[in-house]
Amino acid sequence: MERIYLDNNATTQVAPEVLEEMLPYLQDLYANPSSMYSFAGEVSQKLKEARRRVAALLGAQAEEIVFTSCGSESDSTAIWAAVHSQPEKRHIVTTRVEHPAVKNLCEHLSHRGWRVTFVPVDAKGRLDTDLLYRSLTPDTAIVSVMWANNETGVVFPIADIAREVRARGIVFHTDAVQAVGKVPIDLQSLEVDFLSLSGHKLHAPKGVGVLYIRKGTKFSPFLIGGHQERGRRGGTENVASIIALGKACELAGSHMHDENSRVRKLRDRLEAGLLASIPASAVNGDPEHRLPNTTNIGFESVEGEAILLLMDRHRICASSGSACTSGSLEPSHVLRAMGVPFTSAHGSVRFSLSIYNTDAEIDYVIEKLPPIIERLRSLSPFWKKQAAAHAAG
Ligand SMILES: *Cc1c(COP(=O)(O)O)cnc(C)c1O
Repeated sequence: MERIYLDNNATTQVAPEVLEEMLPYLQDLYANPSSMYSFAGEVSQKLKEARRRVAALLGAQAEEIVFTSCGSESDSTAIWAAVHSQPEKRHIVTTRVEHPAVKNLCEHLSHRGWRVTFVPVDAKGRLDTDLLYRSLTPDTAIVSVMWANNETGVVFPIADIAREVRARGIVFHTDAVQAVGKVPIDLQSLEVDFLSLSGHKLHAPKGVGVLYIRKGTKFSPFLIGGHQERGRRGGTENVASIIALGKACELAGSHMHDENSRVRKLRDRLEAGLLASIPASAVNGDPEHRLPNTTNIGFESVEGEAILLLMDRHRICASSGSACTSGSLEPSHVLRAMGVPFTSAHGSVRFSLSIYNTDAEIDYVIEKLPPIIERLRSLSPFWKKQAAAHAAG
């Protein structure tokens, strides 16, 4: 096997159909869609189709779709818009487990005079929604809660949260980067003002995203420039990538069933296989409310980075739950917020699948990983100490 790619929450391969659809717009069809001649008209027609395709996947209207450069830009735009269009409101509510695109912006704002409430999660990564509702005040400018967590796959009850937030007249944003294409989304029946998504998490290329802006939601642009995107985001359109994203959304709609049946089964088999053959291992997250493609498993008393290195020798790609920041291995803020014990947070690995994974690949990982963990544990003083304590009763 060339490579077993189980890191689809980090990025995904561009679908062949998507590449095929975008290529002409990197070659012969290079007109600026804003120009007046019919050469440009061909391009702008195709952009319209992409906008319709994205809207269709989300149950939105085409005019509510704004193309951006990435998920991070969409997140920033939504939060800045809410803050700038309501300068009198100085409070923001979000969660402790957001992606850095939301988390770091909110921390930035908290150093610049905004009060930010970071709502906690429980040991399974479930949000304390009552605490969230109790934290809302007339001073709250925006509530930003991710649809699904990128590290654990835990899915939050966005429909309920959006309803409660908007009932108090507060703007609601959801970072749905990990949810789009994996769970059905129908914005028509949801009280969501802003929703972010990113192309490269659903088999389109890197460098394109979408911000959904509900009709009537107060908005002020983040990127001020030309009249593109109806004045909501300046800059000549990233034509080929937008067309790619349109196609990727269409494909995501038709693959949703496969994602929730075949991919879910592959994920469950991987998870069960590893838990059965590796002692002192456990799932991080809420198995009941989780994306179909993600499992995050903590292996007691080993370093996640070491696991990744040894898996890499077998050409298996996954992510660890710790990030090497300034030389010290800090467990991720998500696992810390869940209170995952230090010894297992350090040995946490995220496997995230896609429709391109096969049964043979899962068998391969179930075969290769247990000896890796055993070998690392044989070198681990933590593990030996624990084993000795266990033997002593
Ligand atoms: C990847 C990701 C982002 C950022 O998207 P980019 O397009 O890489 O900027 C934001 N939120 C979540 C949950 C993500 O997984």
